[in-house]
Amino acid sequence: MPMPWAISAATSKLLDVILGPQTPCAVCSAPIASFGGPELCGQCLSAIPMAVGLRCSKCSAPIRLRQDRTGGAGVAAAPASGRGADTPLCRGCETGRHYFAAASSVALYEGAVRTMVGDLKYRARLELARPMAWLMAEECAKRGLAMKCDVAVPVPMHPAKQARRGYNQAALLSDALGRILWMKSLPEALSKSEEQESQTMHDRAGRRTNAIRVYGCASPASVARRCVLLVDDVLTSGATADGCARALLRAGASEVYVVTFAISVADARDWMEPKARGAGDMRDARRARSSGVILEK
Ligand SMILES: [Zn+2]
Ligand SMILES: [Zn+2]
Repeated sequence: MPMPWAISAATSKLLDVILGPQTPCAVCSAPIASFGGPELCGQCLSAIPMAVGLRCSKCSAPIRLRQDRTGGAGVAAAPASGRGADTPLCRGCETGRHYFAAASSVALYEGAVRTMVGDLKYRARLELARPMAWLMAEECAKRGLAMKCDVAVPVPMHPAKQARRGYNQAALLSDALGRILWMKSLPEALSKSEEQESQTMHDRAGRRTNAIRVYGCASPASVARRCVLLVDDVLTSGATADGCARALLRAGASEVYVVTFAISVADARDWMEPKARGAGDMRDARRARSSGVILEK
């Protein structure tokens, strides 16, 4: 008659074969079977408010949800000229334009997602980058970005701020995403010349203009003629994504798509671009004409 421990050891081995090796959930540390996916337990995964349903075809803002919450103020699903009902736009994207071709997000910036983003960003829970990147990779695959984009580029942090924090969470996400999608991540491609805090001196429009202008491309050759996947943790006003996309396009990138883990829904978007100025950069103006994007100098 076999000893009980022998049975349990055999059972355990069998479970290892069937379920794969155990690994802790990146959020709550509960043991889960590791299949190489996002490595989150069912409970933590189901706590993530996924951005599902009708979404803006440009910025991926969940249109119906915003309509419910804002009494319709944030919604304009009616198609603009030449647009079908299958490519709806939020009001911000209908009235304003972006430098990026399209943005996509995994989840809404609330509840468990707000906690995850805060833990990665402010509490150095670096182990969260991989599961977040896994979900972002799934989003990229759904949107065809995994095939379309050539390189991943994280939104940069000001060097002083990065020195204080010790890491750039967008770069961690970009590196993890790059490994999952077999896409090169270029953490040094973009640079930020000014810290966000200094923008308090500007009014709202000035803040957006300033936010757009603080980004530059440090190595144009690395992105020239390439389709870039811009990576960040949260999409809020879109000014940061536009600033980075503008710098990448000016460096010669063919297109810029944005993927973020979360999209802010509480924030009333200020997507409006200032009108193109007369003395604008000729290269930007040419690009603006070809892509329909309103650019500022
Ligand atoms: Zn968990
Ligand atoms: Zn939109």
